[in-house]
Amino acid sequence: MAYEAIWAADPSKINKFELVKLEKDGLDVIRTIIEKYAHEGYDSITPEDMDRFKWAGVYQQKPKDGHFMMRVRINSGIMTSDQARAMADIARDYGRNLVDVTTRQAIQFHWLRVEHLPDIFKRLEAVGLYSYEACGDCPRTVVGNPLAGIDKDELMDTTELVNQVNDFFLMNRDFSNLPRKYKMSISSNIYNSGHAEIQCLAFTPATKVIDGVDVIGFHAWVGGGLSAKPHLAKQLDLFVKPEDVLKVAIGVTTIYRDHGYREKRHHARLKFLVADWGPEKFKEKLIELIGDMPARGEDKIAGWKAAYFDGVHPQKQEGLNYIGLSVPVGRLDSDELTELARIADEYGDRTIRTTVSQNIILSGVPTEKVGAALAEKVFERLTPNPSHFMSRTVSCTGNEFCNLAVVETKQRAVLVAEYLDANVELDEEVRIHFIGCPNACGQKHIADIGLQGALVKTPEGMVDAFDIAVGGILGPGAQFNQVLKGRVKGDNVGPVLAQLILYYKENRSEDETFNQF
Ligand code: SF4
Repeated sequence: MAYEAIWAADPSKINKFELVKLEKDGLDVIRTIIEKYAHEGYDSITPEDMDRFKWAGVYQQKPKDGHFMMRVRINSGIMTSDQARAMADIARDYGRNLVDVTTRQAIQFHWLRVEHLPDIFKRLEAVGLYSYEACGDCPRTVVGNPLAGIDKDELMDTTELVNQVNDFFLMNRDFSNLPRKYKMSISSNIYNSGHAEIQCLAFTPATKVIDGVDVIGFHAWVGGGLSAKPHLAKQLDLFVKPEDVLKVAIGVTTIYRDHGYREKRHHARLKFLVADWGPEKFKEKLIELIGDMPARGEDKIAGWKAAYFDGVHPQKQEGLNYIGLSVPVGRLDSDELTELARIADEYGDRTIRTTVSQNIILSGVPTEKVGAALAEKVFERLTPNPSHFMSRTVSCTGNEFCNLAVVETKQRAVLVAEYLDANVELDEEVRIHFIGCPNACGQKHIADIGLQGALVKTPEGMVDAFDIAVGGILGPGAQFNQVLKGRVKGDNVGPVLAQLILYYKENRSEDETFNQF
């Protein structure tokens, strides 16, 4: 039975946002923006359509005064220099020069107005990019290995698989009304660069001997996700050949669409269905839909490097290198992005790659050109040799632009990283993530030190504060971090973290790392 029929049979089983989606498909708002709202202006937008703007990849920006933020999907985080230039121009012309790299490898603009949106959609489409369904209750940006095709640590190049899955789901009206957001990753990197365990559906590298032949493929994981109730994805007992990845993605998404919960929005993610069914029942349902598949093979995840690539590294192609750049809290400006596009053309392979750690990689640089490339001025700030703590600090948007935020995050994160760099010496990197509310866009739960914003009452009034959690990790032994007792005022976060890290440094045993402490 189609999902509309299921809900029609018992309307009490759906929340009121489901009615908005049934009344008009989220994707229809794109045409309404172009034909109506862009001409009639911000005040003409109905509340229901304002909710549907997410399907266009657009959210209202704080303080809801007519400005919007937009996310642009970048498959595997790999874009051409022309695409990067087009986005830098959009930020320059409409977005006050701001360009943010998100934790899903997307590019995010701010300060847009509704009358600008048709031109922005057109400019993006002209270079093969889309903001559509980068937000909303639909399949979002497909995350992948940013080094796909050039990676010494991948079993296979996953670029085309990510494109294939993206192209199938993008603007596909069979899947544009899911219970809530839906996140996929496909990576063949042995260090889990797609952060598999926190995705609704993820594919990680695996091998299996089939009919005497060693086949490279994937293991499939379902039901991961963060927010207030974080879940680690569960591995299904399946070996997925590359040619079957799309089939599995369609099957899992169909199960979510038709059986995912729609009664309470906070309970609508795939992770709750997987937790209730368990991976065995989920696999049975999947096999019913897509037919039998081989059982699990040999897992090829060797560890987790948290998608950090800073420095100059050899590619799998002899004589070529990639340069991992640090982008402090994921923020750069349009001139810097234009410069990176020029440098990618002049020294590299004309691509720019974004990472889920909010950083950027330039690739295809011949060894003899590395020295000249590194002398470019833009690398003074976006450096391949970042300072210790700044290099591993991630932040969500926070209350500068986000209506759900309780506190400011990005500036605070920079101040804390600068404080730690000035005051703490440590021989290992500590990943520090800031989020402004429980929605966890900054992926606080997987950080060595995760900070979640809250407010505390003081004699001077309510002030920004943070709950601190320690010990998050993905890969073998994956676990979310544990919240420590107490709440720290925003201005004290730097000194408190310095004490925490020094305590660790003095008390750790040999070979112990921060997340094992
Ligand atoms: Fe906004 Fe919360 Fe997401 Fe931060 S974590 S960007 S505050 S919704």
